Amino acid sequence: MTTPSPTPIDHWISGTRVPGTSGRTAPVYDPATGTQTGEVPLASRGEIDDAVKTAVAAAREWRTSSLSKRAAVLFAFRELLHARSGELAAIITAEHGKVLSDAAGEIARGLENVEFATGVPALLKGGFSEQAATGVDVYSIRQPLGVVAGITPFNFPAMVPLWMCANAIACGNAFILKPSEKDPSAALFLAELWKQAGLPDGIFTVIHGDKEAVDALLDHDDIAAVSFVGSTPIAKYIYERGTANGKRVQALGGAKNHALVLPDADVDMAADAIVSAAYGAAGERCMALSVAVAVGDVGDELVTKISERLPSLKVGPGAQADTDMGPLITREHRDKVAGYVDAGAEAGARVVVDGRTSDVPADGFFLGMTLLDDVTPDMSVYRDEIFGPVLSVVRVATYEEGLALINGNQYANGTTIFTRDGGAARRFQNEVEVGMVGINVPIPVPVAYYSFGGWKDSLFGDTHMYGPEGLNFYTRGKVVTQRWPDPATSTVDLGFPRTR
Ligand code: NAD
Repeated sequence: MTTPSPTPIDHWISGTRVPGTSGRTAPVYDPATGTQTGEVPLASRGEIDDAVKTAVAAAREWRTSSLSKRAAVLFAFRELLHARSGELAAIITAEHGKVLSDAAGEIARGLENVEFATGVPALLKGGFSEQAATGVDVYSIRQPLGVVAGITPFNFPAMVPLWMCANAIACGNAFILKPSEKDPSAALFLAELWKQAGLPDGIFTVIHGDKEAVDALLDHDDIAAVSFVGSTPIAKYIYERGTANGKRVQALGGAKNHALVLPDADVDMAADAIVSAAYGAAGERCMALSVAVAVGDVGDELVTKISERLPSLKVGPGAQADTDMGPLITREHRDKVAGYVDAGAEAGARVVVDGRTSDVPADGFFLGMTLLDDVTPDMSVYRDEIFGPVLSVVRVATYEEGLALINGNQYANGTTIFTRDGGAARRFQNEVEVGMVGINVPIPVPVAYYSFGGWKDSLFGDTHMYGPEGLNFYTRGKVVTQRWPDPATSTVDLGFPRTR
């Protein structure tokens, strides 16, 4: 039997598929089988220039479209995305590997950002002050930036682009997406839906690539703003290079999210939540819980209850209905994650459940679920973002010790406390230095009408993503002070205009 040759993947420029011309490509795999299924073009600077040119021209028109016209396109896009989410989920699973229900979950959360953006006529209302001075009114407006770019990670190939593009487009910008080269096809599916929804050509562009394409976007004079989601070293680089070039940049980075489990917690509830958030999507989520901090004497019961839940969870191809956890994104990443388990065991962590020896499919990039107990903060398995199905349990004596551990971490994306004590929970949400906080919930990803973002090395820039802060990011404020000829108020006055 011959292996089918990988499908060439196109860019999406000016409302149509465009093959790459740089001569450079990267392989796209089905992580469940380990076979190469696609070949993605890596754009050159020249291709980026061409794509930006069409976006600039399209943005000039789009910013003049009425708010209700933009809302109508968003409503149509929302309907199409909802109706065709099954097809998109299958595309995600085929290139990312996550199970179908999880792929559907990311689409559902992305859809909420589209629904939020349909409210743009109300959301972009400015303020108006009549009679700021006699006969003078003052009002504020928010205007689009022009062409904005989004650079996105492999782990949410639909949701993260939707975090960005729904608001960017609703605000009247043209949006250029540079998706992860590891799972690029979801972006093209979104592009087709935008076109069907009536979005003018050139307002949503997909350009594939690696560092060369990203640098070309960061250096391009006609790109006004860059939204980035990915790992911390790249986020920092994007922020520094983009802002040095005068752009507005929001760059979300990596994470190491802790669950703090107090002795009075509902331990079954905590164990269910921690297992779900540690091993869902094979731990390849920026809001995955990768550290459980067990306070006082809750540790033994917590570790027992977590380990009891693991044997019934099935690791296998994401497209198979009974699978709970799929493969990792690449062979190299699978091996890197397994290496962290080796390092943890060598450094003295107790391997309670060993994913390296689990019964998982031989083909593909699979690794079982690992549970490590007695992890200490000096171990690499604790310090680094692993981005795999590895949960570390750190034991501490007190709430204060647990809080200090969390606040001492370089990352500060999400965290959750498990307790029945409202006072302790309230104290935690006040004292913890982390951007997104959960109380007895596994993954505190804010709903679309709030904004998403961590602190410290989990975010560079000062604007969080989507929701109200997303609207601010994709617009510029302007304040107008006006008066109209009126014989009753018009006099010559060389003094500085006063309001009272
Ligand atoms: P990554 O940083 O490797 O890649 C992200 C994007 O940057 C991709 O589009 C990639 O092509 C591009 N890129 C990679 N190397 C580059 C370079 N040297 N120069 C310029 N661009 C480059 O991240 P990933 O592996 O795709 O995604 C996983 C990471 O993303 C994890 O660290 C995860 O925590 C993080 N993440 C964070 C959030 C968040 O909201 N904070 C959400 C999802 C994922």
